[in-house]
Amino acid sequence: MSRAWTLTARPQGTPTFENFALIDVDLPPLADGQIRVRNRWLSVDPYMRGRMNDLKSYVPPFQIGQAMEGGAIGEVVESRAVGFAPGDKVQHMLGWRDEAVLDATGAQKLPDLDVEEQAFLGQLGMPGMTAWFGLLDVAEAREGDIVFVSAAAGAVGSTVVQIAKAKGMTVIGSAGGADKCSLVRSLGADAAIDYKEPGAPLVKKLADAAPNGIDVYFDNVGSDHLDAALAVARNHARFALCGMIDIYNNLGPTELRYLARAIQARIKLQGFIVSDFWSRAGEFYHGMSALLQNGNLRRQETVHEGLEAMPEAFLALFAGGNTGKMLVRP
Ligand code: NDP
Repeated sequence: MSRAWTLTARPQGTPTFENFALIDVDLPPLADGQIRVRNRWLSVDPYMRGRMNDLKSYVPPFQIGQAMEGGAIGEVVESRAVGFAPGDKVQHMLGWRDEAVLDATGAQKLPDLDVEEQAFLGQLGMPGMTAWFGLLDVAEAREGDIVFVSAAAGAVGSTVVQIAKAKGMTVIGSAGGADKCSLVRSLGADAAIDYKEPGAPLVKKLADAAPNGIDVYFDNVGSDHLDAALAVARNHARFALCGMIDIYNNLGPTELRYLARAIQARIKLQGFIVSDFWSRAGEFYHGMSALLQNGNLRRQETVHEGLEAMPEAFLALFAGGNTGKMLVRP
């Protein structure tokens, strides 16, 4: 028997605790090719909000009453699959639960890197890959570029800051609150903007922090952050549209006053999904290992304890309740 979280109803607007319930799930005996995994770390990610809507997207919606899914790191406790033995550490997608039975084809052994296992849900996992390919491939950021990244104290953003600095770029990060801005600067950013601080509008704060404009914008927020970046972008700037967390709970229209600058300044805006880059994972691990060895990477994590804490951890993503990767230890 496993305990898993399910959706009781599809959230309207910002989800609440009433949208979630813990259920018991029968675990079948193992078939050939299957493993049983005891989860040790569970991921909550902003994209999961999209899976709560009954809309066609790049991942199917969660089903009401069925166990939810998400990134997880666990230990194999029983195996009928060639190449997997009890004690092996694996990553897989049957998160939001304490234990899972799955086809071994849906699990990957952890890469051989000298880091704690939970790093493979963050900086050395999906969010890290998002940062790496979004910055270097999608936005084609290069040494000397001036890069602006929003949600810069979060999992993806804090990794973007550090990759960009390690590769010789000037970095401006935005985050909510003075403490988060100190963190962003301590990770190497040349400037940090507290978007929550009352006073000047964001576009003015960004223009002050980037008097010569920006070459690259790594968008995690959308809305006013995207608009401010459009306002200050230099000619031929490149925007990697990674996420727009500001509108995940409210799919209303977004006003972009400066969108026409995309024409005048010949800005290239490119959305992407990290899974487009799965086949290039080797390139990512190779590049990140070099940064690790050179001491260029600092990992940030916010950990909630206990399976019961999953909804709380997930909801906190939308209220800035994390620095670095938000994790749950069941
Ligand atoms: P984070 O660790 O950055 O957590 C979310 C952070 O977003 C919060 O801590 C909060 O920080 C900030 N935030 C929340 N609401 C708002 C708001 N209304 N306005 C401004 N900031 C807000 O999450 P991830 O690093 O996992 O994800 C970052 C972004 O990247 C998300 O948009 C996500 O959807 C996207 N993403 C996209 C992928 C892709 O394949 N395209 C893959 C992975 C992630 P603060 O306190 O600073 O407000």
